[in-house]
Parts: sequence; C-alpha cells; structure tokens
Amino acid sequence: MLQVDNLTKTYPTGQKALDACSLKVEKSQVVAVIGPSGAGKSSFIRCINRLVEPSEGQIWLDGTEVTALNSDQMAKMRRHMGMIFQEYNLVERLTVMENVLSGRLGFVSFWQAFFRKFPQADIDRAFELLERVGLAGYENNRADALSGGQRQRVGIARALIQEPKILLVDEPTSSLDPKTARTILALIADLARERGLPALINIHDVGLALMFAERVVGLSQGKIVFDGGPEQVDEHI
Ligand code: ADP
Ligand code: ADP
Repeated sequence: MLQVDNLTKTYPTGQKALDACSLKVEKSQVVAVIGPSGAGKSSFIRCINRLVEPSEGQIWLDGTEVTALNSDQMAKMRRHMGMIFQEYNLVERLTVMENVLSGRLGFVSFWQAFFRKFPQADIDRAFELLERVGLAGYENNRADALSGGQRQRVGIARALIQEPKILLVDEPTSSLDPKTARTILALIADLARERGLPALINIHDVGLALMFAERVVGLSQGKIVFDGGPEQVDEHI
C-alpha cells in the first residue's frame, strides 16, 4: 500500500509544484491522476520514487518510509518501483528481449550479462511477460523497428520484470493514437489488478482516465482538488 502525507515540492526556482498532498492507495487500486498541464502530475509521481526530491512530507510503501531512505537504500527501493514513461525510454539499438531484461538487472550487471550470458530465469520470465503484453515472437526485433504501441508494451514488460511493489505511470499514451491508447491503458490497469499492485497513472485526457480507473485524483496548482470515483468526476469538471 502507498501512503503519501503532506507532500510538498518547491523547486529551486521558487515554483511550488505540490502543496501538502495526501493520498492512500490500496493494493490493486488503479488511480488516474488528472489535471491540466503544470498541475503537478509529473512532480507527484517523481517525488514517489524520488527522482524529484520532496521538499516536505512523508511517503510510505508497504511499511517502508521511502522518504527516510539514504541514497543506496533508495536505489534499491527504486528497483521495486515499476516506472512506465510517455516516451518509452527504450534503448533503440537493443532488441525487445534486451530492453525487457534491462529492467531486471542494474546498469552494470546488464552490460556484463549482455556480453556473456543473461540468467536463464530472467530470460524465462521475460518470455512470459512478452507473451502477456502481446509481444510473443517479437523478442529479437530491435526496439527502433517497433510501432508506438509495441514500444509501450515493451516498456510495460520492462517495468513488470522487476516484480515491482507499485506502478508509476507518467502519461503513457500521449504519443499514441486513441485506439492504441485505450488498449495500452486497459493492459496496464489489468496487470496492476492481476498482480495486486497499486498504480498511479498520470493522464491529461479525462475521457480516457474515466474508462479504466476506479478512482480519479484531480490536481490543480499542486493541490488535490478532487478524489473520488469516475462517476463523480462529471459533477466537478
Ligand atoms: P504536470 O505533470 O501536471 O504538467 P509538473 O509536475 O510537470 O506538472 O509541473 C508542475 C509545476 O512545476 C509547473 O509549474 C512546472 O513548470 C514546474 N516544474 C516542473 N519541473 C520543474 C523543475 N525541474 N524546475 C522548476 N519548475 C519545475
Ligand atoms: P512534461 O510536460 O512531459 O511533464 P515538461 O516540459 O513539463 O515535461 O518538463 C520537461 C523537463 O523540464 C522536466 O525535467 C521538468 O522537471 C523540467 N521543467 C519543467 N518546468 C520547468 C521550469 N519551469 N523550470 C525548470 N525546469 C522545468
């Protein structure tokens, strides 16, 4: 379970991106975080894995206080946080299989294994995940030969191979056409529920958010201004 208490982020420029945000997300709960550009959605997700350092407040994940970890501990913790990005962040010249495996091993271990041999257990697991995300048979294709939707499927498999405790998803469909976007969001939501993971999904398209999330959190100027079921959103926005 994720618990966020009074999370505040003020950037060195003086810009307050988050203002005392509190939130609890249960296992298997898929939460869409909506709000206009600049509302603080990215900052919120990046504070949870501390790619952005919170200015104030506490974050807890499964009983561990994330905000109390030192940088070594945080690096380990981050490996249990599955991150899915808007621009996929794949290594273009590597294959689908290699990109998925890069989520499993640290950077150095990945390249060591790349020039020797990847652990068989990881390869088996990557095959299973590729099948689950609909990319069976694509393992040897290079990332730069894939469509946007396929790339995001690789991104999802790469996040899941870490056996994460949470999914943090930042605008996963902004670069996709509407039909592919719906399929990808449904896949992410299904996987979160199947694996019992809390999922936070930033999405600026409210219509899309309402299709898959059981809970919607609205951010505006760094504050949580709405938190409820999708059926309640219409009355507020
Ligand atoms: P969203 O994801 O909802 O578009 P962001 O979290 O990216 O919102 O941004 C929230 C606010 O913080 C915006 O005003 C943005 O310009 C500002 N901001 C984001 N990142 C930085 C940064 N690294 N330095 C200064 N201001 C930033
Ligand atoms: P997105 O819309 O995808 O969140 P942005 O254009 O808001 O991307 O931000 C791109 C990068 O610039 C991020 O690393 C963000 O932290 C940084 N950034 C955003 N706003 C500001 C700002 N006002 N000052 C400095 N850096 C910023």
